[in-house]
Amino acid sequence: MLRPRQFSPCEPFTCPVQKSDANLDSPLTVLSGVGPALDTKLARLGLRRVEDLLFLLPNRYEDRTTLAKIGSLQAGSRCLVSGEVLLAETVYRGRRNLLVRIGDGTGQMTLRFFHFSRQQQAQFRTGVVLSCFGDVRTGPVGLEMVHPEYRILKPGQHPVISDSLTPIYPATEGVQQGRLRNLATQVLEIAKASPPDELLPDEIRRQYDMPALFDALLYLHQPPPDADLASIDAGRHPCQQRLSFEELLAHYLSLRNLRDIARTAGAPQLREGAKLAERFISGLPYKLTAAQQRVIDEITDDIATPYPMLRLIQGDVGSGKTVVAAVACLRAIASGVQVAVMAPTELLAEQHYRNFSDWFRPLGIEPTWLSGSQRQAERRESLEAIASGDASLVIGTHALFQEGVTFKQLALVVIDEQHRFGVHQRMALREKGEQGQGHPHQLVMTATPIPRTLAMAAYADLDTSIIDELPPGRQPVQTVAMPETRRAEVIERVRSSCKNGQQAYWVCPLIEESDVLDYQAAEASYRMLAEALPDLQVGLVHGRMKPAEKDSLMRAFKNGKIQLLVATTVIEVGVDVPNASLMIIENAERMGLSQLHQLRGRVGRSSTKSHCVMLYKPPLGQLARNRLAILRDTNDGFLVAQRDLELRGPGELLGTRQTGLPQYRIADLVRDAGLMPKVQLAAESIRRSAAGKGDEIVRRWLGDAGRYGKV
Ligand code: ADP
Ligand code: MG
Repeated sequence: MLRPRQFSPCEPFTCPVQKSDANLDSPLTVLSGVGPALDTKLARLGLRRVEDLLFLLPNRYEDRTTLAKIGSLQAGSRCLVSGEVLLAETVYRGRRNLLVRIGDGTGQMTLRFFHFSRQQQAQFRTGVVLSCFGDVRTGPVGLEMVHPEYRILKPGQHPVISDSLTPIYPATEGVQQGRLRNLATQVLEIAKASPPDELLPDEIRRQYDMPALFDALLYLHQPPPDADLASIDAGRHPCQQRLSFEELLAHYLSLRNLRDIARTAGAPQLREGAKLAERFISGLPYKLTAAQQRVIDEITDDIATPYPMLRLIQGDVGSGKTVVAAVACLRAIASGVQVAVMAPTELLAEQHYRNFSDWFRPLGIEPTWLSGSQRQAERRESLEAIASGDASLVIGTHALFQEGVTFKQLALVVIDEQHRFGVHQRMALREKGEQGQGHPHQLVMTATPIPRTLAMAAYADLDTSIIDELPPGRQPVQTVAMPETRRAEVIERVRSSCKNGQQAYWVCPLIEESDVLDYQAAEASYRMLAEALPDLQVGLVHGRMKPAEKDSLMRAFKNGKIQLLVATTVIEVGVDVPNASLMIIENAERMGLSQLHQLRGRVGRSSTKSHCVMLYKPPLGQLARNRLAILRDTNDGFLVAQRDLELRGPGELLGTRQTGLPQYRIADLVRDAGLMPKVQLAAESIRRSAAGKGDEIVRRWLGDAGRYGKV
């Protein structure tokens, strides 16, 4: 609600006496005006030391460096003006309004208040001079400001004009702007006396032409009147880039440190199984692609060393990541240790279980199943086999890594569809193997490609392998967007394609945050489709189904007994039924690009021409139209991911909103993507020749926790 405000202080703040030994490390209570109450409030916002306030940057600025002439004001601007009260009156326009007419000789304008005290009303006597600051808009009688900040001037007193732009600090609950500005001014004084250390080596600063840390901070707290506000607003000012750079560097270094620590743990060397792997590969109904073979070689080399492998496999949907992982598993099993394969959903874990069973049984290896929804007795049996080491290959969901699961000698962990697991989970996994000989080797596979710069930032603790080739003969999935008003046509298309021996998916609208609604929507679509297509076998799979039910349904679909599978987005990741060649996605306009690409990747898995129909609810906005056009125009997952990153930001793309993608104070992984390659180079050079500085950079930005694992 708008409330009358007094003009908040924007005159240069004169510093009250501070304890002279205050420095950046001091608690905030050294600042004048910070008592226990405010200190607690600030602590709640993560602000504890003077330095924390130094790094709390304004998110915009107001220009109170010039006094505007009323005659030249324009609606839409935000200005400081000064004038004499010509008339003040209360009018009723549905509610009480206080209107104050002011003039400065060049023109007149109105100040409008909806909330005001009698005292305030009395201030606006005719002839009184005031200054005010606010948004100018067109009112019923000329230009006006609604609830401006204002200050009554004493006779002969001049309006206060700032000599730098006025910083507006990020909204901080219960701490007023004026107060924050005051604290910031004090902090800058302290910092001038004992500036923060410049931690970036000179040659790096010179190489990238970056300002010194403290200069950048000073500038952003108090930009001069001629500062390029457009570039600051965009976060692209050299001073901001300087800080973003150091922050990205801190996160990157911290992940690299994490990797070093993980690697010092040591790991069992897995060198056996070459013959077994060969037998397996030659038994496959297809030849591995060169990219698959290359990645297999990289993994084979990694796990033969006495350091834990930390490798990420990136590959587009359908590039054949599973079989690559299978080869790694075989080599480990042949070396006499245990392997765990973990998938993010029960559905996907079951699919892996089936695949690995089919693949490995002929080789005399029987996988063990472990999931949260297993019957007690069965689970106990699995747990025993895992603890005794009899289970050489264990497949399941994240239940694999809960307490109570003890491996005898876990030496390789495969995590499928990595984007659902954050760095915290990666850490937890490492610790699982710790009871044995060092850490297990880790292989993580992404569901969808991650743009290079984002991978650098989020997965700097991992080595990356890229499968940049699809199995031969795959045809791009032809993709169209259609309004849902043409649903009948689409149903007809499903009928004819299934009559030709093909199979189809129908993905129902995703109803966020509600399993129940999600399920009801899927139910409704299922009934509608079953009725419209009486001559087809239609099945429904959703997240609330019992695993056994789901399993038998998926099996029926895989065997072709069901021709049309109606599904919620549970089938988003990984599901592999090569005979399916038609994908219908409802409410496509509400899904992310990578998610749509992932869904679309369920078809186009054989040499049959496949199609994807994205149904949308009209009217479609321009942005949504552009988004769908991207999918229509490309089948390249790396490209889709890049656009998704630009449109929605990294949190959505990594699926790590809940799983610990670090929060950045200043940097922005999309805006600052261009910095990442430089950050990477700088980090390697610092690690080589200024490791101490590197640690300080990490400490400055991430605190003593400094390691994701401990945050
Ligand atoms: P993703 O990389 O999306 O996890 P999958 O591992 O599920 O892909 O493999 C997709 C499909 O491609 C599976 O049906 C798999 O059997 C098949 N496939 C894997 N590698 C090859 C290959 N080299 N040639 C032909 N088909 C392959
Ligand atoms: Mg997969």
